[in-house]
Amino acid sequence: MHFTVTSRGDDVSDALKKDITSSLEEHGLTEDADQPDIVISVGGDGTLLEAFHSYHGRLDDTCFVGIHTGHLGFYADWQPEEVEKLVIHIAKTPFQVVEYPLLEVVVRHYDSDDTDRYLALNECTVKTLEGSLVCDIDIKGEPFETFRGDGLCISTPSGSTAYNKALGGGILHPSLPSMQLTEMASINNRVYRTIGSPLILPQHHTCLLNPLNDVEMQITVDHMSMVDRSIKSIQCRVAEENVRFARFRPFPFWKRVKESFIGEGE
Ligand code: NAP
Ligand code: MN
Repeated sequence: MHFTVTSRGDDVSDALKKDITSSLEEHGLTEDADQPDIVISVGGDGTLLEAFHSYHGRLDDTCFVGIHTGHLGFYADWQPEEVEKLVIHIAKTPFQVVEYPLLEVVVRHYDSDDTDRYLALNECTVKTLEGSLVCDIDIKGEPFETFRGDGLCISTPSGSTAYNKALGGGILHPSLPSMQLTEMASINNRVYRTIGSPLILPQHHTCLLNPLNDVEMQITVDHMSMVDRSIKSIQCRVAEENVRFARFRPFPFWKRVKESFIGEGE
């Protein structure tokens, strides 16, 4: 089996990366950053997001596992103290795989026929650099509303505990192939009206954002951000692809939610 280890780049994570690499090599595994079967990310959820994007071209052949060197993460859910156990698991036992849904984002421009396609593990957000975002929102091909406000966030189920949560979105279990649309400060008065509530859409229900004002827009996909103008549409739906996580022990999603946001209790 081929593996690679990625690090947040701080001293603790780098040292752990070195340890894991040499232990796995001692167990006869091969380090291969080009075509790994398993990617071990050391740092935080942000480190795993970066690892995901480095290998988004070979999701069918790659499994991810995350170790946190800071606070407990949602993707980075192994402690540094457990690394020895983890190494033996990876080297000796066939591991289980859990798949989480992803978000597909397709951006089209007025001045080009090219389309840009992205996969998000957490979310896509759309904002403007200046002034309000004004855009028509179509759901499943039907006009739904015209949004005016700071921006919109379309999140995956596993991303629902990230930006989406800060926007008042619901926390969704990652076994639900779905996406969630939340508003950032919509303008609501006698002239402008939006639904206000987060919307949760199932597979095959496309959400199309059609900007109405030609302003510079900031589109983010997970930790990445781009500024662009002449955007004709941003199309979101649950992706065909899934991300695969290696599971060596049960750590249920709701337990991670509790330990991250409520605490471990008395
Ligand atoms: P960051 O600014 O370090 O991330 C913000 C926080 O979100 C970090 O604590 C990060 O954990 C955590 N996080 C990432 N994915 C998560 C998930 N699925 N569930 C719960 N928490 C999660 O930047 P980053 O590490 O590159 O992460 C990018 C993400 O930041 C974006 O995808 C977006 O979700 C989030 N974000 C949140 C807000 C907000 O809440 N207002 C604003 C902008 C962006 P680690 O410390 O373990 O990396
Ligand atoms: Mn981070």
